Amino acid sequence: MTAAAVTVGNVSFEVMRGDITRVKADAIVNAANSSLLGGGGVDGAIHRAGGRAILDDCIRIRSRQGGCPPGEAVITTGGKLPASHVIHTVGPVWNGGTQGEAEVLRRCYRSVLALAAEHGVRSIAFPNIGTGIYGFPKELAAICAWEEVTAFVRRHAEEAGTLRQVLFVCYDEENFRLYAQEAQKRRSS
Ligand code: ADP
Repeated sequence: MTAAAVTVGNVSFEVMRGDITRVKADAIVNAANSSLLGGGGVDGAIHRAGGRAILDDCIRIRSRQGGCPPGEAVITTGGKLPASHVIHTVGPVWNGGTQGEAEVLRRCYRSVLALAAEHGVRSIAFPNIGTGIYGFPKELAAICAWEEVTAFVRRHAEEAGTLRQVLFVCYDEENFRLYAQEAQKRRSS
């Protein structure tokens, strides 16, 4: 199920409901934890579907840099996934909103997009980072995601970046509704 698309600059944005491990894109994004060794939620689903090659890349990155702090991102193979790459980012654990959680979440999107640009990614799919086990409020997360990704696209428009398609893949109905609402705001503006 896909909510109507929105175009910003030369990038098309779509909100869809589904399982990100089935999405064919140059890169899908994982809501990982700092260990990079896999976990529950979307992280577990990506490692299960993508197989050992993703974990092997994560282990190599860990031995080089000792994991991934919240707000940062690393890139691995997509292994057996239909996506070529996985960009792993670590969201903030929600702690009432007074510990800079929103800024960390915003930084996740910027870090992912910077890595995607370095790797010439044309299409990218995001899950709703932070809104599962880490407990980030869904409405605020949807606002942060849309603002950061559209701001990045606008900032990089003149540099002829490679990005052409952004998918927000929502696993649950509430996130789908909230992300679609943000899309709607941008269609009418
Ligand atoms: P976090 O620890 O960042 O909260 P979670 O994996 O617990 O990460 O949840 C992030 C979001 O990913 C949640 O909205 C959850 O519903 C969603 N999710 C879980 N499994 C999948 C999947 N297979 N595809 C897309 N989204 C998923």
